[in-house]
Amino acid sequence: MSSTNLPSSMKAQVIESPNAPYKLVSLPLPQPQDPHDILLRVKAASYCHTDAVVASGALPGLPPTWPHINCHEFTGEVVIANSAAAALGFTPGARLAVAGHGFHCCGVCEECVAGPEIELGDLRGDVPGVSAYCPTSGTCGLTHPGGFAEYVVVDARQVNRIPDGLTDVEVAPLMCAGMTVFTALRKASVRPGMVVGVVGAGGGLGHLAMQFIEKIGAKPLGVESADEPLKLAREVAPEATIVDARTTEANEVCAKGESKKGVDVVLVLPESQKAFDYSMAMLRTRGTCVLVSFPIAGFHISAGDMIIRHLNILSVLGGTLSATEEMLQFAAKHGVKAKIETYPLEKLNELVAKYGQGAGGKYVVDMTV
Ligand SMILES: [Zn+2]
Ligand SMILES: [Zn+2]
Repeated sequence: MSSTNLPSSMKAQVIESPNAPYKLVSLPLPQPQDPHDILLRVKAASYCHTDAVVASGALPGLPPTWPHINCHEFTGEVVIANSAAAALGFTPGARLAVAGHGFHCCGVCEECVAGPEIELGDLRGDVPGVSAYCPTSGTCGLTHPGGFAEYVVVDARQVNRIPDGLTDVEVAPLMCAGMTVFTALRKASVRPGMVVGVVGAGGGLGHLAMQFIEKIGAKPLGVESADEPLKLAREVAPEATIVDARTTEANEVCAKGESKKGVDVVLVLPESQKAFDYSMAMLRTRGTCVLVSFPIAGFHISAGDMIIRHLNILSVLGGTLSATEEMLQFAAKHGVKAKIETYPLEKLNELVAKYGQGAGGKYVVDMTV
């Protein structure tokens, strides 16, 4: 589609105030202003837990204004590439995957300048001048309009190309959920043969983490506490040990097979103290806990337990552009895919209701049909 025959308006799902349902409205077509801007026609937009938190108004200052368009993990096709975006090789028709963060990074702060010097376990930062962690950059779907619309403006420095063999719908949920757990595993330097616990193994992030761990050559050990997510965890990792936290204590997990000394690394995915305590109790001496979720009230940490057992705690926030590229290539090569249920844009509220039932997996707005 050339810019001359673009529509003047688009359909978008907006949240008008905290806790309001999504409302389908017609809005003027967004305009790419900055030289790095790309106007993207959205193909698939995936729902993340953070969308629910933002919609509830629980994150101070986010969104900065209402009404707001959510979704920070989406894919689409380039419609207009402004000058700097075109200079980076983006042309109309290119298929792009977008992780929300890093929109309009400043290029001059410590994060942006340090680039590859930044160490994140096995990962490095991005090229000098570009950082997903630039503190003044925005996030599509949080500080800026996101993917629950027919069109969205993105920054050419925050996007990845979609590898051959993966569809728009398959890639969308990898752009926050997949990228976050992949970064967590790389940051914790997970190696083949290590035992890696995933507390919340059947959730949106968890069921992807189980697959990445297995394909890295490590041994996933999944923990869940509800029937449907337990089923999903078993489905995506049939060889893995899967534990029902309702009937098995963390110390009993450590008495089993591969994990008899405790797990080497554990990812904490649910936002609950119980999940955190369970995760810490599963760790072996000198093990590493990776915080992925951040409950508003925080986690209580037993310093004594940490000190006596020489435990480490890391945290992860999304991933760099280079880490996301590595994740996409890895997912394409090893067939890592989310379990996905799709909805049309018009039925986003139905998607949200289904997500709320807690069956696990990922829920994606499909605009390719
Ligand atoms: Zn997210
Ligand atoms: Zn910066």
